Amino acid sequence: MALKKDSNSLGSEQEKSQNEDSSLLEFKNLDNKKEIESQLLEVSKGDDNENGFLDFGFNQSILNSLKNKGYKNPTPIQKAAIPELMLGRDLLGQAQTGTGKTAAFALPLIEKLTDNKELNAKVLVMTPTRELATQVAESFKSYSSESSNFKTVAIYGGTDYRNQISALKRKVDVVVGTPGRIMDHIRQGTFKIKDINCLVLDEADEMLNMGFLEDIEWIIDQLPENKQMVLFSATMPNEIRNIAKKYLNEPAEILIKSVKKETQLITQRYINVQRHHKLDALKRILEITNEGVIIFVRTKLLTTSIAEALENSGHSVAVLNGDIPQNQRENTVDRLKKGFIDILVATDVAARGLDVERIKLVINYDFPFDKETYTHRIGRTGRAGRSGEAILFVNQREKHFLRNLENSTRNKIVEIEIPNNKIINEKRMGKLISSLNKSSLSQQNNEEQKALMIDILDTLREKYSMDESNIAMAAINLAIGNKSFFMNEDESWIYRQNSSDRNRSSRNGNGNNRMRNTNRRNNYQNDSFETYKFNFGRMDRVRVANIISSICNSTNIKGRSIGKIQIFNDYSLVDLPKDLHDEVRKKLRNLKIRS
Ligand code: AMP
Repeated sequence: MALKKDSNSLGSEQEKSQNEDSSLLEFKNLDNKKEIESQLLEVSKGDDNENGFLDFGFNQSILNSLKNKGYKNPTPIQKAAIPELMLGRDLLGQAQTGTGKTAAFALPLIEKLTDNKELNAKVLVMTPTRELATQVAESFKSYSSESSNFKTVAIYGGTDYRNQISALKRKVDVVVGTPGRIMDHIRQGTFKIKDINCLVLDEADEMLNMGFLEDIEWIIDQLPENKQMVLFSATMPNEIRNIAKKYLNEPAEILIKSVKKETQLITQRYINVQRHHKLDALKRILEITNEGVIIFVRTKLLTTSIAEALENSGHSVAVLNGDIPQNQRENTVDRLKKGFIDILVATDVAARGLDVERIKLVINYDFPFDKETYTHRIGRTGRAGRSGEAILFVNQREKHFLRNLENSTRNKIVEIEIPNNKIINEKRMGKLISSLNKSSLSQQNNEEQKALMIDILDTLREKYSMDESNIAMAAINLAIGNKSFFMNEDESWIYRQNSSDRNRSSRNGNGNNRMRNTNRRNNYQNDSFETYKFNFGRMDRVRVANIISSICNSTNIKGRSIGKIQIFNDYSLVDLPKDLHDEVRKKLRNLKIRS
């Protein structure tokens, strides 16, 4: 089945789109180009009966699957690209993930293949990573879910060949894969490419960055000459332009000029936090967060150590890094989608293209390497017109990178404070109340359960002589567990961080080991100390000896039981024995140094 080409109708299509929705799209007549000046993902809500996809001429099965997915109106990239691809034209699109670009190419290709009965694949989609390959294949599957006998197969590295080979042996319409594995299958003869009449290069710039240029060219050379070509790229460096020039035939060009609207849906904020306080800051943020969270860190090692620390604090968390086998990664993403886990700790590469609606907060635990990485990270939330939040941890040295990031993304990133004890206490109380309410509501709606509870209550009262308030208190105790429920709201220091946490992160390369003027009192048991922050530092000309003498003079703490002391510009950290008496804490709060 050949895909029809007709480049004459571009003008009329252009005008049509322009008239349709000038608030969303503004096309410029740049030779062959469509330039969309408005922002992405303005998927207007529309009423329930509205269907903005009707005009494209899709068959009923596609319309049904779009309805199932809840899509009412096309996104700007879909409005611009679908008519071109329906005509069989080549297309060069500059658009980022999160714009709806997958549906922009998948829908017209599915439409063209609706009645395809032939065995060999007709469409090949190449993606830089296996994550994106899986995601694009999933999109094809869901958009064709109502089309009978439509088959999409994903082939990528890191997994067994056998399943892929047996899937490729059966009837296939679309193959989505990564360059290396596609080459392997072509060479082995397990992927028959003689009937491919459309090739899509998705995230082409990323494929180039990953060094796939030669492989891509090799694959293109193996494919039949007469084919439709679609190239999507987030950026348009010269290398991509050259590929487009070499292989695309008078392509329609669509440019999404900026991602501003998309990132505007994401509230972007930063927290000024020193390295050795990051883990504590993270835990505090998670205390007040309810929904799906993804935490980006720089190294694989850090993904596991942070996940471990969070798990120890009672969070349901999983790791996503390059060392985790593909099937396990897919399983993790699935568990996040279903709500079995709430938090993912990930490296940038492992989380490429991740699309999970539940993610409402992205935490940049480590500062991103560049603007693209940052944009990609925060784009894991606020998908498809929904809102999301992003928080960036910034230390003093990274402050100027923050300004660069604001300038290059043209977005203000506002500073916020780490949640203090009062906020955390309120949140803990709120969570307890809502879980008690939920539990009591579910009992009320379940007669059998209700009868059982009444039975148990009667037994406790009559047989064990417990009164109702004692029973209620015991139940609350069970609900909150053994740890102390409320934090001390009177603490005047910002932090009281457990030393063992800090030292754990130091071992993983995350701690601040550039201590100046430090008294290295390391020969003590870390777990018996807590770190106190005092708001005097080098600027106040404070020295280690001053701190020790002040503490010893104002409290009953002995000099030898004081642990590590670190003096920073405007504050100091002092390790003191755990579980100090309230009286001593009060004295520490009012500690005076050098008069
Ligand atoms: P993509 O840019 O292809 O990664 O798509 C980003 C997200 O937008 C995915 O979650 C899609 O399911 C969603 N999406 C794509 N098109 C639409 C649409 N017309 N209406 C609502 N959501 C959409």
